[in-house]
Amino acid sequence: MSDKKQKGHIISFVHKNSIAMELDIASGDKLLAINNQRIEDIFDYQYHVENEYIEVLIEKPDGEQWLLEVDKDEDEDLGIEFENGLMDEYRSCRNKCIFCFIDQMPKGMRETLYFKDDDSRLSFLQGNYVTLTNMSDYDIDRIIKYNLSPINISFQTMNPDLRCKMLNNRFAGEALKKVDKLYEAGITMNGQIVLCKGVNDGKELEYSIRKLMEYIPVLESISVVPVGLSKYREDLYPLEPFDKEDAKEIIKMIHKYQKEVFEDHGIHFIHASDEWYILAGLDIPKEESYDGYLQLENGVGMIRLLLNEFKDALDGTRKRECAHEISIVTGRLAYRYIQQMAEEMMERFSGLCIRVYQITNYFFGEMITVTGLLTGQDIISQLKGKSLGERLLLPQNTLRSGEAVFLDDVTVSDVEKALQVKVDIVKSSGYDFVNAILGEDN
Ligand code: SF4
Repeated sequence: MSDKKQKGHIISFVHKNSIAMELDIASGDKLLAINNQRIEDIFDYQYHVENEYIEVLIEKPDGEQWLLEVDKDEDEDLGIEFENGLMDEYRSCRNKCIFCFIDQMPKGMRETLYFKDDDSRLSFLQGNYVTLTNMSDYDIDRIIKYNLSPINISFQTMNPDLRCKMLNNRFAGEALKKVDKLYEAGITMNGQIVLCKGVNDGKELEYSIRKLMEYIPVLESISVVPVGLSKYREDLYPLEPFDKEDAKEIIKMIHKYQKEVFEDHGIHFIHASDEWYILAGLDIPKEESYDGYLQLENGVGMIRLLLNEFKDALDGTRKRECAHEISIVTGRLAYRYIQQMAEEMMERFSGLCIRVYQITNYFFGEMITVTGLLTGQDIISQLKGKSLGERLLLPQNTLRSGEAVFLDDVTVSDVEKALQVKVDIVKSSGYDFVNAILGEDN
């Protein structure tokens, strides 16, 4: 047992008018136990706090312990938050995957960016994908006991030997057996396959898809995403980028299985991320084939959703004059679609001038084309001296969550100063896109 667990969990915040406030629980107090049970982490806490009658053991900063009896509604929270959101240390991964993007980052970035988490609790709390390689039977039993769903799993392959090789972990094949247990308990799962050319594609991919289909409908979806290759790959496993013909083949295979699964189960199940369609030069599929956009965070259906939302938003506006000059930043991958939307806006609003700038990712390397990995320094250097108009629109996903800072620590105000333009941050929806362009005129 770690010291932290023996000593309890420090309460960092007590909500106003909460049960905790009524009971004089204050920030700085420690939660030692509920119903005489030691609280291991946030899942234990959520589970035990659910009951209508609970006994809460609190330790005040002077060491005095209070045993508080609480009668409350089922599901009613105590109204406290903890110093550490997980109420436990974050679990790091035990793998050394041949495709890991963290291993491909340049030196000297923020330390937190190098942390390799593989914590199933973050799968439930934030949607992270986990490999199951650092989970014990006890962890799986707890998920089943608490009926937590969905868990997002990075499969990569269903071939156990190949999985050991790809994850550089001799237990990675064995870890797939945990999927059977989750399946039998009915724990909803989503999966991801990071595809590496010549490694887990072709026949191996076909084998994995077939094996994964056995877990339908408890396993709801699988995304296939191409490996991201930065320019920092010295001494790493040699991996090559996919080309247009590869992308066409992969989409063909995925569509074949989508059709088969749809006939049997009424879902499409296996999805190619947007990058494949763009690389293949094919149209992005219609909304119906995304089964409710289960894997947006993996870039599956993001463009279709954006285009559809944009169309809805534009249909809701009236044609009018809008004499503004605006510029927009995007990565190379989404450029064509952003440009297409900008043209439709300019057709509808007379006097509107939108310039869309695609930024090449020199920071990570030109093979990285997604907008979310653009850095402040690339934006500044490539837009210096360009006509930017009254405002420059920057997608929110280029920034660190909740902060006005890019991955390379350049801030939004650094960009404003360097380019002498007002920057507006735009969320990723098509509605936000239209609103941001029209500004106060909307
Ligand atoms: S599981 Fe693999 S890809 Fe994920 S952080 Fe660990 S080494 Fe990197």
